[in-house]
Amino acid sequence: MKICKIIGDMTSENAAERYPVAILCDYCYQADAKRGDDAQVVSSEEYKSEFDVSCEACYKSLKEEMDETSPMTSD
Ligand SMILES: [Zn+2]
Repeated sequence: MKICKIIGDMTSENAAERYPVAILCDYCYQADAKRGDDAQVVSSEEYKSEFDVSCEACYKSLKEEMDETSPMTSD
């Protein structure tokens, strides 16, 4: 899960609107990166909190992603 700055409303004078923040799961982040010049993510950092959030593109939750990436652990 990553905290990403994405391309927003470039006509806005407000930096927060030009580059709004979106939470993306690793899958959607990588899918965006593959779009090359059409990629929406301009910068990102790893999401480190354990507070459960959901990907804004596919609505996968942090917990679901952790379950996928660590299949050997249960509970
Ligand atoms: Zn996603």
